[in-house]
Amino acid sequence: MYRPTCAIIDRAALRHNFSVIRRHVRHARVIAVIKADAYGHGLLRCAQALSDADAFAVLELEAAVQLREAGFRQPILLLEGFFSIAELKVLAQYQLSTVIHHHEQLAMLPSCKEIEKLDVFLKINSGMNRLGFRPEQGRTALDTLRQQAFVSSITLMTHFACADDPQEKHDIDQQLNRFITLQPQGAERLPRTLANSAAILRYPQTHADWVRPGLLLYGASPLIEKTGDELGLRPVMTLTSQIIAIQHLNPQDRLGYGGQFVADRPMRIGIVAAGYADGYPRHAPTGTPVLVEGQRTRLIGRVSMDMLSVDLSGIEQARIGSPVTLWGEGLPVERVAESAGTISYELLAALSPRVRSVTR
Ligand code: PLP
Repeated sequence: MYRPTCAIIDRAALRHNFSVIRRHVRHARVIAVIKADAYGHGLLRCAQALSDADAFAVLELEAAVQLREAGFRQPILLLEGFFSIAELKVLAQYQLSTVIHHHEQLAMLPSCKEIEKLDVFLKINSGMNRLGFRPEQGRTALDTLRQQAFVSSITLMTHFACADDPQEKHDIDQQLNRFITLQPQGAERLPRTLANSAAILRYPQTHADWVRPGLLLYGASPLIEKTGDELGLRPVMTLTSQIIAIQHLNPQDRLGYGGQFVADRPMRIGIVAAGYADGYPRHAPTGTPVLVEGQRTRLIGRVSMDMLSVDLSGIEQARIGSPVTLWGEGLPVERVAESAGTISYELLAALSPRVRSVTR
């Protein structure tokens, strides 16, 4: 009935990873980042598995509304905030929390009469230069927010550019210093949030009041030098498929589009029902790891839209219908990403909607 390509989503693994994060951060509250359809894992089912999270963060207003309508009562933070008064009204209606990162957003606030109460995360650009007020403008932004009676809480927020790379500690220190310059003088101390997954692991001094893990939840490592497995995490998504054809190549036979792979000996090749239209990276080169019947082998030749080829040397039991793991349990997505010259975030989030997914 179905194409055999399937993403298995393991909710127990998600809960396990969440508890690893909790243990790591101890007192900080956890905002589970479930934007981009929970990094390709499915928004609602991940939110359900993460019902112990102190808050959720998404990017898309539609996703935030979907979460509220599904009954989630936690704070739901919009990571880019709103772009119009109309969106601001929806935000008020669904009692969403919002990032405010530029003056236009501040200027819209007084025009929205529907807001009774708004929790704001004031984003400070401490050096990444993507979103946020520069620390020297942050003070004015803060004062403007404080003049709005309906603003019920203000949390100061920043985002690190290089927390994944141990060579960049200096950059983290610089961002931290710039962020700290905004702290109000005197007794009052606003809550703060800084740490994404990599900073949670590498820089405990950034845990502050709220942490914002994304990737760690899904069991992949944000650190260059370690896999999720090595961090005690479990992969939430396993992308599986099957062999749908077997070819026998003679020496000098070429394989697939472009014929770039040339057999140097008689070879048995498995054709797998997954390609770049499923989200498998087209640029993954020959040698990228794949599991067939649980045994490690390699991708060979070019990945096409619906198929890819694997070397069956030494896997005598491989047949049409043999199970193939493209990443996940037994094969860290980080390894596939590394071979394809990308990051696990991209592979997970780019899983195609045509891939059937099964929740375990
Ligand atoms: N916070 C913000 C503002 C983000 O944009 C993201 C993701 O890009 C995260 C937290 C989560 O990052 P990570 O998946 O690296 O934990």
